[in-house]
Amino acid sequence: MSRLDTLSPGTREFLERPKGLLIDNEWLNPLSGKYFDDVNPSTKSVHAQIARASDADVERAAKAAKDAFYNSRWHNMAPNERGTYLWKLADLMEIHQQELAELDSLDMGMPIRAARYGTVPLAIDHVRYMAGWATKITGESIGVSVGNYLNYTLKEPVGVVGAIIPWNFPLLMAVWKLSAALAAGCTVVLKPAEQSPLSAIRLGELIIDAGFPAGVVNIVTGLGDEAGAALSRSPLVNKIAFTGSTAVGQTIMREAARNMTRVSLELGGKSPNIIFEDANLRQAVSGALMGIFMNQGEVCAAGSRIFVQRGIYEQVLEALIEQSSKLKVGDALDPSTRMGPVVSEEQFVKIQGYIEGAKSQGGKIVVGGSTANQQGFFINPTIIRDVTDDMTVAQEEIFGPVAAVMVFDTIDEVIERANRSWYGLAAGVWTENIRTAHYVAHALEVGTVWVNSYHVYDAAAPWGGRKMSGFGREMGKEALDLYTETKDVWINLDR
Ligand code: ADP
Ligand code: MG
Repeated sequence: MSRLDTLSPGTREFLERPKGLLIDNEWLNPLSGKYFDDVNPSTKSVHAQIARASDADVERAAKAAKDAFYNSRWHNMAPNERGTYLWKLADLMEIHQQELAELDSLDMGMPIRAARYGTVPLAIDHVRYMAGWATKITGESIGVSVGNYLNYTLKEPVGVVGAIIPWNFPLLMAVWKLSAALAAGCTVVLKPAEQSPLSAIRLGELIIDAGFPAGVVNIVTGLGDEAGAALSRSPLVNKIAFTGSTAVGQTIMREAARNMTRVSLELGGKSPNIIFEDANLRQAVSGALMGIFMNQGEVCAAGSRIFVQRGIYEQVLEALIEQSSKLKVGDALDPSTRMGPVVSEEQFVKIQGYIEGAKSQGGKIVVGGSTANQQGFFINPTIIRDVTDDMTVAQEEIFGPVAAVMVFDTIDEVIERANRSWYGLAAGVWTENIRTAHYVAHALEVGTVWVNSYHVYDAAAPWGGRKMSGFGREMGKEALDLYTETKDVWINLDR
């Protein structure tokens, strides 16, 4: 409990304020009057009561977004004015970055240092990057052959965007979706994850402070199968941008089909991290550890399948074991913590189930496999050696600090095995050989390949998956495609 005393005054004041739904720039009580507990996974204690939006609340929010789309001038506003609002928001986020970091850390267990120096600065940079795009969205003129015509395209905002986000990077996920949608001229209803709604609510306060017109951004906290489902079904919503599990992504896609609501889906992964014999082993080992243990392994792109070439297998394993046992597991708000708790009891139980299952399928746990301390949902960094492709831990996304280490012999073998997955989000390749690097990078069926690095992200670099990892690219200029429709215009030039 004592860690709460270290929270900044801004965070403590925020925690004291009641948490409503942001609709039309007002904080409203949910129509049902219902709230739910927000739990700190480091201590299992409740630190806030969160408004539980129902269908009717979501409809109010979607209506506000629809009205704002047409009436607030948002999509007809001068693009540089839209960009200026985003810049103002980024400046406010910068002023309040300590609070934003503390809120994610408190809510879902992200180590405070990672939040403060990693995800929060990335989120701020993302808003500024997208602010710049507001003035650079252009169509093209097209030479047509059928006659004397001027033909050109317009990129128009898709309308009301429903953004449904997960709990693993609460602020960053909110900002990925919000800032691209707003730059494109869309209005938004954001549904944060029920496990980690605080930074989104604080962001909503900053959005009001930045002066955004009413209804441009609305935030409905609530449960997935209530508020989330209502949003994906709403006829007022033109597009759903979702990040989360593959199973929920499939449900959302089915629901969205009713109204032909556009969807983009960033889903799960089981990403391979491939270490060749000629790799720089010092870099490869620390990259493999960071690849799987960053944010407790609660990352859609976690490098959860570590393939190691036979000649260096024992050596790499030994280094992985040695270094992972040094990772400090503890309260997320402690600045010396390298790995916090997993997000919830549900995840805690699920991850332990995977570890037990691996044992019964013949997996050898060489480090971890245990819980760290009973105060919160702590699981020690866990490494399973000699995993084979048929084991559950080699196939299913665990979303926890569990690495499956596997041995391979040849380059084509490892490509085939890496690709033999339902998922296709990201991959890492460790080699000093430029031909191996490009050969493997081209052959992998994934959205992102990191060579001699892992988990590097930039607002300018497109991000998204293939296969069961979803479709659509967030970040980079491709993100704007998610929030725009192309219109083609023909002008007859004959007199
Ligand atoms: P996880 O299993 O990692 O919690 P989910 O895919 O369940 O991820 O959740 C991601 C987001 O989707 C959360 O905001 C959650 O509330 C929401 N969600 C869950 N179920 C549904 C649903 N049936 N329809 C729409 N959104 C949902
Ligand atoms: Mg929480």
